[in-house]
Amino acid sequence: MLTQISKWFSATPVPCPLCGRSSAQTSSKPPIPVRHPAARRVLSTLCASCLVGIPWIVAPICRVCGRAEDCQDCVRRKVRYYNRSRCSVRYDSLMKDWLALYKYRGHEKLEPVLAAMLAFAYERLNDELGSRNTYPFFHTITSVPLAPERLQERGFNQAERLAVQLSQWYGIRCRPLLARLRHTEKQSLKTRQSRVNDMMGNFAATSAVDSTDNLPNSVHRIILIDDVYTTGSTINECARVLKESSAPDSPAEIYGLLWARS
Ligand SMILES: [Zn+2]
Ligand SMILES: [Zn+2]
Repeated sequence: MLTQISKWFSATPVPCPLCGRSSAQTSSKPPIPVRHPAARRVLSTLCASCLVGIPWIVAPICRVCGRAEDCQDCVRRKVRYYNRSRCSVRYDSLMKDWLALYKYRGHEKLEPVLAAMLAFAYERLNDELGSRNTYPFFHTITSVPLAPERLQERGFNQAERLAVQLSQWYGIRCRPLLARLRHTEKQSLKTRQSRVNDMMGNFAATSAVDSTDNLPNSVHRIILIDDVYTTGSTINECARVLKESSAPDSPAEIYGLLWARS
């Protein structure tokens, strides 16, 4: 009788939020490389074949941006304003499809999935900095803003949504610190140099990037979230603005955290 009942429950089809297939068969699922229980729960709703397809960046080669291969972008950058940046996955064709489903086709149920994937990079960054026991190591989470017209068109800022979810899971305050002054054309169509030039003057601080409130005279560690890292020009320009707007007694240290590295 008991086995009958448990069979009924386990047979309840749980559709994978990505492909809609049943995610019930757990035996062949790969391990989930995230520790936070809520993020793990979200990722466990994926079916085995979607989980297997995630190209996690387990061993970053570039120590600056966390890319999984040699990185000329970081070698060529003359001035870097962020300390380091980490990404959860390689931006392969499957990840492009997933992001497009969420960003352009409004599949909102993918939002917690992308946030749970971003949790992987957050936990890796935290571990790298040896900060597991220094709580909280980071004081503020913020995100790369969209231009107003882009925000109106899409209805939401994906980076901000991911930032809010991470801040709730890890207990770090989330604050909008930046505004986007103008919209630039699609980044991927441009050369690296024109991307760098275009980013200059694109962002402004919305208010003084204030101190850590209860920790005066100390470094203000800020996590800056975006969805895709292409050359790092966006993160670098945002980091420059944040550093220049920080209080002298509480200089900002910026850490990039991105869902994917192209
Ligand atoms: Zn699936
Ligand atoms: Zn790099």
